[in-house]
Amino acid sequence: MLRTIPLVTSPSWQEQLADLVTDPAELLAILQLKMEDVGLSAETIQSFPLRVPRPYLARIKPGDPRDPLLLQVLPLKAENAVHSGYSNDPLGELGVNQTPGLLHKYAGRVLLIATSSCAIHCRYCFRRHFPYSDNRPGREQWQSSFDYIAANPDIQEVILSGGDPLATSNAYLSWLVEKLLAIPHVRRLRLHTRVPIMIPQRVDAPLLQLLGNRKQQIIMVLHANHAQEFDAEVDSACQRLRAVGIHLLNQSVLLAGINDSCEALCNLSERIFAAGVLPYYLHMLDKVNGAAHFAVPLTTARELISHLRATLPGYLVPRLVREEAGMMSKTPL
Ligand SMILES: *Cc1c(COP(=O)(O)O)cnc(C)c1O
Ligand code: SF4
Repeated sequence: MLRTIPLVTSPSWQEQLADLVTDPAELLAILQLKMEDVGLSAETIQSFPLRVPRPYLARIKPGDPRDPLLLQVLPLKAENAVHSGYSNDPLGELGVNQTPGLLHKYAGRVLLIATSSCAIHCRYCFRRHFPYSDNRPGREQWQSSFDYIAANPDIQEVILSGGDPLATSNAYLSWLVEKLLAIPHVRRLRLHTRVPIMIPQRVDAPLLQLLGNRKQQIIMVLHANHAQEFDAEVDSACQRLRAVGIHLLNQSVLLAGINDSCEALCNLSERIFAAGVLPYYLHMLDKVNGAAHFAVPLTTARELISHLRATLPGYLVPRLVREEAGMMSKTPL
């Protein structure tokens, strides 16, 4: 029997990842905005380039310079302002690298920098000045991280972070995951990733095969800051992950002009739960150079959380936290 061959195929996630919007002129043209509407800075684009995946871009409202998704990716002149109390390494991570690419700050769990790259560049990112070139171990150097974990039986959980662990290939991820899960005391594997929301097609059959239905628990901590980041494709990606037994949580950053209202935070919690995701952390902004215009005062943050508690069931209220250098856990506020 003859089958009709579809004339238009949607791009694969590999193509999506290779075809990010990096040219501000293209971004503005797609969104029908003018340079003078937004206050772009060529200087900040040089130090931390523009990077926007097209599926995410499609959820931005054209013609709105204040769109909450757009503001997360726009390199603004405000990033050049110098503010006291802000630094390039606000979490003091440079001092706690046990082996290249491994951070052991908290009891029972280690964080691995699986890759330096991300599918998106979030302007508020605390790792925007991180010296990734020193933290990009080759396969041989990974061995020292595996050895470190294997030699510390109290490490029950390994967190793959980055960058974004899902911005890598399935072959690389598979190698890494199998190595880690072969260590007997590693009971939980966690991935901190924005990719399923940025490029939902990334949740493909090989990934589900790799992470699904394992005897260890697999947790994916997604990162969405606004309800508008979800659409039917993202819902479907979350559903595929849940169907193979992966626990889904979400962390957000409290960001001025993006989600610093009761309405935005309530809608976010409701929306992620509709996709089968539970809220985990709401982070206070890390005081990284270039991000001060996103800061929300602590008093406002506490008021917002009180409002959420008064409005939503307890399981939809994220934990408001701040990360402080030298502490044993994130600091609850
Ligand atoms: C946030 C973080 C963790 C995980 O902390 P949880 O409170 O378990 O989510 C682990 N290691 C590092 C270095 C971190 O920054
Ligand atoms: S995806 Fe995460 S690590 Fe990457 S730029 Fe955004 S906040 Fe930073």
